[in-house]
Amino acid sequence: MTQEAQPEYQFFKVVQDYLDQAADVVHLPTHVREMLSQPKNELIVNFPVKMDDGSLKLFKGYRIQHNNLLGPYKGGIRYHASVSLDDLKALSAMMTWKSGLMGIPFGGSKGGIKFNPRDCSKDEIMRITRRFTHALGTHIGPDYDIPAPDMGTNSQIMVWMMDTYMNSISDTHKNAQRAVVTGKSLACGGSEGRNQATSRGVLHCILQWAQDNHFALEGKTAIIQGFGNVGGNAAFLLSKLGVSTIAVGDHSGYLANPEGFNAHKLMDHVAEHGAIAGYESGMEISRDDFFSTKADLFIPAALENQLGAKEAEMLDVKLVAEGANGPTTPDGENILKDRGIPILPDVLANSGGVTVSYYEWVQNRRSEIWDLEEVERKLETAMIRAYRRVDYFAREHNVDMRIASYCMALQALNQAYSERGIFP
Ligand code: NAD
Repeated sequence: MTQEAQPEYQFFKVVQDYLDQAADVVHLPTHVREMLSQPKNELIVNFPVKMDDGSLKLFKGYRIQHNNLLGPYKGGIRYHASVSLDDLKALSAMMTWKSGLMGIPFGGSKGGIKFNPRDCSKDEIMRITRRFTHALGTHIGPDYDIPAPDMGTNSQIMVWMMDTYMNSISDTHKNAQRAVVTGKSLACGGSEGRNQATSRGVLHCILQWAQDNHFALEGKTAIIQGFGNVGGNAAFLLSKLGVSTIAVGDHSGYLANPEGFNAHKLMDHVAEHGAIAGYESGMEISRDDFFSTKADLFIPAALENQLGAKEAEMLDVKLVAEGANGPTTPDGENILKDRGIPILPDVLANSGGVTVSYYEWVQNRRSEIWDLEEVERKLETAMIRAYRRVDYFAREHNVDMRIASYCMALQALNQAYSERGIFP
């Protein structure tokens, strides 16, 4: 039910190929291209954790630091059975592009632990998180590398990371260390608006696209793969625009509801049961049926490598807006292009998450608390500006929006490299 598009997908190679294409467009100097083609640091830690039954289990954790030219490394922590070095290298590079594109003073990183959090109790997840944070030690820090939530992690896990880090360092200014992670709960130094930030950013991009294409969203339909933070909130925000979500999917399977799902109720169901399976107002469908559902929008919000050639042939939508990172394979993308289905690419469309993470980091460092309206207004301005710049670049250079997004990031990075030079 939940298989991926290509069994042997090399995600990092795909991102390197996009880098090469974009580097050609902006005539990136060879040495800059080479430096950006590999992460600066690849950290792997193996650490034991006591499980609820008293046994000890060894876990493998990763932190890949791609680039810190524009600011501290920044990127999410993923808990998933599929976590691999290759995927995290790709995801860390994409964080560098997102920060560069959005003009945020951060670099790019990504980390995670290869395990299925659904197999563990809450206490076990806490101990795994704390031991992982301890193993990372000073390889993270508010001025060095700042984790955030990603797939399988949430604000609670960020708060455990923060607490462990604050208690591990010998610093009299412990509170200044809260900015070591973003995506925290409000009670523990998080920002208003962070929870919905990624989905809200996707929505701003869809709204820009709709405006340019004279496409009235009211009364339209969407299908969404992944119903966690990004997918669930996207469905909720779409419903406020009058767009009904008529098919959804997650690791447990796929559901259809031609009347449109109540996003709120479905999110409550997922919060209680951990998956969409068993939700009463949905009809079970196959993965193929999901991808063939006729709708206006498709929002991938689960894993990479989901929209391959087969899925791209089946899709019957007018727009793909990538909430997930790397959901579309190059083969899938080529087919969508041939079929005239545009893609709002991940590096642009889901960058609302890192943008509001940056706002959280700024608030922590200044001991400020911004209200929700302020965060949402700033995010909207940032997303619209990024969308307009990418759209303009794409038209001017006759490239797609993905390559345009990479190009804009590379231009920002190259400018800094050319002025700073290479040490020594
Ligand atoms: P999440 O853990 O909250 O939700 C993930 C969803 O994907 C769940 O519904 C899960 O069941 C589903 N899923 C997992 N494996 C699946 C499979 N094999 N087939 C179908 N569905 C599957 O994670 P999230 O934070 O919503 O992240 C989703 C995507 O968005 C990821 O690609 C992540 O990197 C990207 N992203 C997240 C953020 C953020 O702020 N959380 C920011 C930018 C990008």
